[in-house]
Amino acid sequence: MIRIRSSSRSLMTRMSRHQHPQVVNLLKCPYCGNETSFFEISDDVITTTHYVQNQDGSFTIENRSSQSLGDVKLFCGNCEEDLSSFHQRFSEMIF
Ligand SMILES: [Zn+2]
Repeated sequence: MIRIRSSSRSLMTRMSRHQHPQVVNLLKCPYCGNETSFFEISDDVITTTHYVQNQDGSFTIENRSSQSLGDVKLFCGNCEEDLSSFHQRFSEMIF
């Protein structure tokens, strides 16, 4: 039921974006109405950090990437309810 609702919603977003570019269908917490702050928790994360050694022997971080092998969950930043059913849509909109 949630899956059907979210796919029809993303279709609406695409259509309204085409017809009215200024109208954006924001992700909104269904529990408290928050639409600005969200956080994500990842299980079993492997973090890879690339360093460059400087002439004085110190190291500077060049690049850091992480990969999750476990569950990734999305939460509301305001009421902290689990919004993982919106996670796919969320991850498509990270730029
Ligand atoms: Zn909320």
